[in-house]
Amino acid sequence: MREFVALEARRNRGWPWPEKSFGLDPMFGAGGWCHACGIPQGPQTGFLTLQRRNLTPVGAWVPYWNYDALCVDAGLADTLRGRFSLDLRPVAWPATPAGDAWQIVIPTVGRAWYDPEDLRRQTIARHRRTGARCPVCGTWKWLPLAPELLPPLHITPPLADVDIAASPEWFGDGLEAFRQILVRRQLAEIIAAASPRDFLIREVT
Ligand SMILES: [Zn+2]
Repeated sequence: MREFVALEARRNRGWPWPEKSFGLDPMFGAGGWCHACGIPQGPQTGFLTLQRRNLTPVGAWVPYWNYDALCVDAGLADTLRGRFSLDLRPVAWPATPAGDAWQIVIPTVGRAWYDPEDLRRQTIARHRRTGARCPVCGTWKWLPLAPELLPPLHITPPLADVDIAASPEWFGDGLEAFRQILVRRQLAEIIAAASPRDFLIREVT
């Protein structure tokens, strides 16, 4: 995979609000995410809301808890808007108007990114178990794997005209829920250059 890379977060910045719903209520509506496994049950309808506490919204970053939410400052959003096809949505704040920062909403693309046998083998090697099907919403979630433990990609159908995409497979444990994300190389390079302390680029196979 030459055109796409993974953008690995070296740290997290910013706590979603309200903490009670891990910030999911404003993004998906109180009924729009599964309260048993944390997985959204439909597209994002609202805004990622971040607390200002300990957050300087400059460059690009991934908040705590919501590892699928990629945030960029207003200047970087302007740079990216003209060059890439992205769903950019303002980041909201609990007490001040939105607009200083933007979230890149990452679409789920494809039917499968990994061979389930590969994921089974890797999760058992790491955790001694594979994952779980949520008893409430029925979604399967694999236990999390560090990037170097992920099996090779077998994306079907292959990624076409997207600049950023998330896997149909969900990962996490308990209420933690995230997807794997691939970023077009040029886009990843701009983001990593804007925030080298937040990201490093990882080649994928
Ligand atoms: Zn669920």
